[in-house]
Amino acid sequence: MSDRRPSPFKTLLDSEAATLIEAAPDVYQIRFKNRAANAYLVRGSRRTIMIDVGLSTNYPHLVTCLAHIDVTPDMIDMVVLSHEHLDHIGAAYHFHGISYIAAHRLAANKIMLRDDFSMLRKMFNEPNVPIDIDIWLEEGNLIDLGNFRLNVMYTPGHTSACVTLFDQDKGLLFAADTLMPGGVMGGVFGSGSIADYIQSLERLKGLNSKILLSGHGRLSDTPQEDVRTAIQRSHGLLEDTAQLFDALDARQNFEPIMQSVRDLNKLDD
Ligand SMILES: [Zn+2]
Ligand SMILES: [Zn+2]
Repeated sequence: MSDRRPSPFKTLLDSEAATLIEAAPDVYQIRFKNRAANAYLVRGSRRTIMIDVGLSTNYPHLVTCLAHIDVTPDMIDMVVLSHEHLDHIGAAYHFHGISYIAAHRLAANKIMLRDDFSMLRKMFNEPNVPIDIDIWLEEGNLIDLGNFRLNVMYTPGHTSACVTLFDQDKGLLFAADTLMPGGVMGGVFGSGSIADYIQSLERLKGLNSKILLSGHGRLSDTPQEDVRTAIQRSHGLLEDTAQLFDALDARQNFEPIMQSVRDLNKLDD
């Protein structure tokens, strides 16, 4: 199995809290040792960005890793958030007034409306500090760093608001929770959909990707293999959930939400 080969990626720093790994020239993965998602730094010839930043408490460790490669937070032009989950974006407020913060418009909307349920605030036990989004991204946007050109792809499924960034020339695929090494899929959360997920994976399959840079886990140099496995799994998941939904009483599950909608509607009567 590919997992047993020695990693082709170089570890530059390994501390108690985080590991800094070189994914490609001027592309770095920061892997935190708690529940936080991976953060990435892409140092372009004209602009430098981060993709996801981890939980709020990881910020000092993020800064330590960046210092190791002579980057300070004020050198980061933009922070791109892959989706609204706080394990990816919790530390983003530390960049207020330093960097532009960008997210897909559906994620931006949830984050700006402080939709804690969608952001999983309780699950990650994050402080209630607002995060402000400056740039609302869409499918087809391009982030030009000079020598890196990152295409913004809208890849819903895990949630309704996931983006994947792809550098076509270098084959770099920043897929967050949509695709993980070994074909591991992220879960399907409230606003997500398995059918959307399958379509997003099918789009990733068509790309000439060489390195997979995911929201969780190691770096992978077999993205094509990973995406094929994930597509097989996603069809299995679709079948499993069809059976699950057959077994569940859908009305009962939606009843608490419907009741609160009815209660709120009554206020206007
Ligand atoms: Zn997520
Ligand atoms: Zn995640």
